[in-house]
Amino acid sequence: MKKKILVIGGVAAGASAAAKARRIDEDAQITILEKNGYISFANCGMPYYIGDVIKNRSALLFHNEKSFKKRFNIDVYTKTTAYRIDSKQKLVYARKNEEELIFPYDKLILCNGAKTVIPEIEGIETVPYFTLRSIEDMDNIKSYIIDKSPKSATIIGAGYIGIETAEALVNCNLNVSIVEALPNILPTFSQEISEKIYNQMILDGVKVYTNTKVVKASLNNQNITLTTDSGFSLDTDLLIISTGVKPDIELAMTAGIEIGDLGGVRVNEKMETSVVDIYAAGDLVEKKNIVTQRYCLAPLAGPANREGKVAGCNAAGGHMVYSGTLRTAIVSFGPACCAQTGLSYEEAIKNGFDADFVYTEDPHHVEYYPTAKYIFIKLIFDKKTGKILGAQASGEIGVERRIDIISTAIYANLTVYDLEKIDFCYSPPFGSAKDPANIAASVAANLLRGVSYIIKPQIFLQIIQKQDDIQILDVRTRLEYKTIHVKNAINIYVNDLRESLHLLNNKSPIYVYCAVGYRGHIATKMLRNLGFEAYNVSGGIESIKRIAKIQNMEVFDGSNT
Ligand code: NAD
Repeated sequence: MKKKILVIGGVAAGASAAAKARRIDEDAQITILEKNGYISFANCGMPYYIGDVIKNRSALLFHNEKSFKKRFNIDVYTKTTAYRIDSKQKLVYARKNEEELIFPYDKLILCNGAKTVIPEIEGIETVPYFTLRSIEDMDNIKSYIIDKSPKSATIIGAGYIGIETAEALVNCNLNVSIVEALPNILPTFSQEISEKIYNQMILDGVKVYTNTKVVKASLNNQNITLTTDSGFSLDTDLLIISTGVKPDIELAMTAGIEIGDLGGVRVNEKMETSVVDIYAAGDLVEKKNIVTQRYCLAPLAGPANREGKVAGCNAAGGHMVYSGTLRTAIVSFGPACCAQTGLSYEEAIKNGFDADFVYTEDPHHVEYYPTAKYIFIKLIFDKKTGKILGAQASGEIGVERRIDIISTAIYANLTVYDLEKIDFCYSPPFGSAKDPANIAASVAANLLRGVSYIIKPQIFLQIIQKQDDIQILDVRTRLEYKTIHVKNAINIYVNDLRESLHLLNNKSPIYVYCAVGYRGHIATKMLRNLGFEAYNVSGGIESIKRIAKIQNMEVFDGSNT
C-alpha cells in the first residue's frame, strides 16, 4: 500500500513539505489541498509587483498544478477548502465549489497558515478594502489601481506589509497615508532603529499617523472617509488593511489538536502536533524561540519553508529536527532599511536575561571608497556571559549582512568576545578591516571587560535634564561642532586633547561624545589614563540625536539645529 500524505495549504510551508516528502519517498501518494487558486508562489514579492518593480507577474508563480504534478508527481487541488479532520478515521473533508470531497490520509501536514486580523471599525463592511496575503489579493489591488485610477491610498497598520505596500503605492504615484495604532511604525523595532524608515517615508511624501486608530469608515460615492480616534478624518480612494495576522486554527481544532497560549498550533521539534500522524508547519504554529527556548509566533517565510521541510521529511518516514527561529527579518522603504534578529532589549529583560546593549554606527565599507553608507547597530547581549541575544540595525546597504552575521553568531551560541574576532570579507568596495559587526561586538566586549566607560544616550540625556552644570566634551572637529553640538558642550578636537587638559575640571565627571563613538572612546581612554572620570556616550551625537528626538528633548545648538 502506498503511504498517503495529505498536505493542507500549498504556499511556503505546504509546498516545501510536499516536495520534501517526495524526495524522501518516491512511492508515496502525496496530495495538496489549497483553498486559493495558486500554489508555491512568492508572497513576499507581491508588494514589488504592485509597485511595478517586478514587471512580470508570472515570475512570482513558481509552480502550478501541472508543473507540480510533472516535477514531483504530487496531486494539487486548488480552490479546495478543507473544513474538517476526522483523526480517528484519518479523513479530511473538503469543498471545491459546491462539491464535497473526502481525502483519506496516513500522514497529514497542516500548513494552512494565518489569517489577516481585521480591526473593529464601525462600518468597515460597507467600504471596499483590500488585504495582501494571496495572489488574488495582489491582482485585486493591481486591477483597482489600473481600472479606477485612485489618487490617494490609506493603509491601516504600519507593520511589514504596511510599509512595503506604502512603498509600492508611492511608486504608483498615489498620495499615501498610513495609520498606526501604536506610538511607532514597525513596533517590533526600537524607535531609534525604525526612525530611518519613518524619515524616508516623510521624505517621500507619505503622511504617517502614529498613535492613531481608525474608528469609523463610510463610503460617499467612490470616496472612503475614515474617522480616527485622534479627532481627524481621512478621505481616501483606496484602503488597505495590514493590521497583522493570527494562526488560522479552526481546521486544526476540528481534530482536537492542542493550541498553545499564543493561539497557534503546538508542535514538537519534529513538527508533530498533539494528535498522532498530524504534523503542522508555517504561520499556523507556535515555534521555539532559539534564544529563550519559549514558544513564539513568527509568521515569516524563512521559518515556514524550513518547518515545512522538516514536517514533510518526518511524515514521509525520514528524520529531521527543527531547532527554532531567531525571527530574523528585514524591511525596507526606498533606500532605507531596518533588520533585526533574536531578542530586543525589552524582550531580553522580560525573559530574565541580565541584558545590556550598545550602539555603534559605522560605514558598510571603508569610508574613503565612494558611496559608503552608515549602519546603525543596536547589539543586545548578556552582561554575565557576553552571549549575544539580539540585534537591530538600520541603514541602506549592508544592513542585511550584519544582521545575518549576528543571527549566525546567536545560532552558534557565540559571545561578543567571539564576534569581535571573526574574520569577514574585506576589500574597500566590500567592507572594512574592522567590520561593523566586529566593532559592535568589540564595544560590547570592552564594556564587559570594564576597559571602556560607556554611557547610554538615554542616561546622558537624563543627567542633562537634572543638572545643567555638567562637563560635556565634544571631541569632533570645529566644523562638526559648529554644525550641531549638545548645548553647553565644550569643543576640544580629540587630537588636541593632550595639550588642552587645563580646560577640563578633574574634580567632576566628563561626558565625552564624538560623531558615532570611536573618537569619543579614544578621548575617554586618554582622560581615564590621566585620572579624569570620563564617560563616552554610546553611538556618539548620532545616537543622542535619535534618542533626544524620541524623548522630545531640545538639547542641541549650532547652525544645523
Ligand atoms: P505586522 O504584525 O507586521 O503589522 C501590523 C501592524 O498593524 C502593527 O504595527 C500593529 O501595531 C498595527 N495595528 C494593529 N491594529 C491596528 C489598528 N486597529 N489600527 C492601526 N494599526 C494597527 O503585520 P502585517 O504587516 O499585516 O504582516 C503580516 C505578517 O507577515 C507579519 O507578521 C510579518 O511577519 C509577515 N511579513 C514579513 C515581511 C518581511 O519580513 N519583510 C513582509 C511582509 C509580511
